Amino acid sequence: MAKMIGPSSENTRSAILDLIRSGGVVSRVDLVETSGLTAASITRIVKTLMSDGLVIETGFGDSTGGKRPTLLELNAGSRYAVGISLDDARLTYVVTDLAGVLVGRLVSAGIGDTYPPTVIERIQAELDVLLTQLDIERSDVVGVGVAGAGRRDVSGAVLRASLSAPDWENFAVKQALEAASGFTVFLENDSACAALGEFWVGRIPATQDFATLYMATGIGCGLIIRGSVYGGASSNAGEIGHMIIDVNGPDCWCGSRGCLEMLAAPLAVVQRALADTTLATSLGLSGQPSELRMDFARIARAAAQGDPGCVALIEQSANFLAKALISLANLVDLDRLYLAGPGFADAGSIYYRIIRDQLDSLAFMRSVHPVHVELSEVGLESAALGAAAVALQSELTPHHKVASGV
Ligand SMILES: [Zn+2]
Repeated sequence: MAKMIGPSSENTRSAILDLIRSGGVVSRVDLVETSGLTAASITRIVKTLMSDGLVIETGFGDSTGGKRPTLLELNAGSRYAVGISLDDARLTYVVTDLAGVLVGRLVSAGIGDTYPPTVIERIQAELDVLLTQLDIERSDVVGVGVAGAGRRDVSGAVLRASLSAPDWENFAVKQALEAASGFTVFLENDSACAALGEFWVGRIPATQDFATLYMATGIGCGLIIRGSVYGGASSNAGEIGHMIIDVNGPDCWCGSRGCLEMLAAPLAVVQRALADTTLATSLGLSGQPSELRMDFARIARAAAQGDPGCVALIEQSANFLAKALISLANLVDLDRLYLAGPGFADAGSIYYRIIRDQLDSLAFMRSVHPVHVELSEVGLESAALGAAAVALQSELTPHHKVASGV
């Protein structure tokens, strides 16, 4: 179906650049057809994109009677974007080219309970190391996307609301990192980034709506509707971790009770394991808040190897997730779901099986269409890749742009 782009749109140039990106190799005639713009407009816009080095001519297409058309493609190596996943247990950096293709990565220690300005200082230093290693000029970097847990404030500067990292609650990540690094910084929720990462790596057409369930320390969900992150009123949509699953359930740090996160997230799984002293001892669980994710990984790995006690704990967590996802599927008539994030790294196959089976047997629309479930292939890097995509989209596709907080 043709995308119609209004000639008066201030985003026209970016929209044409995105049509070239998503089309791979296209002619000006293709762009006239898909954009709905006139040939004269396309010729003018392509000329400015070429003079800026963003688009190059790459040969000739087949003739359809007249002169063979000149083909265009994105000059992928002309610009780069950085994505950083700001996670409790590890920082993941990725660098992509203008087409969103991964060109480098770096993994370092997580934020843990380190004082935020100290982490920002480390990020600035690690960014320098990575760009130097890749021989990328700072002037060729369009921006740095940062994926983190939590709510956004209206300025988009603050993005954490987590019991495990209270120091970050009112810390202006965007301003601090911009001041330290000199780059334009875009801050976005990690679940939204993970969804965008799936979209951007090219596995999903823009016509396909889908959700990504993201589990790290907390649980969130990103909804991609027609190629854009669905943000809601304040870019805070997707807080499935605070969907109430049990009205009589345990108190949640958000002020409610019986939230999915309190029943299914790593903390709940680890607490149940610690209550079984024999199991906790045999797994060598530390029970320290700072080692929560490592304790969860120990349980998940043992479950993946078939330890019956650990399998039961992971199945219990998966069962709660499945119930929340049935509600989500019923609410938005979901067609496709990805499971992403470090929470699925070790026992993803158990989560996948239970969530798929329950959606198959209990989703309201199951007789009309299935809900396809997949484990993310980009896995641990999905949030960082999505964060890089947020930065790229500032250059490429303002019509896709999630609120950047500028
Ligand atoms: Zn809650």
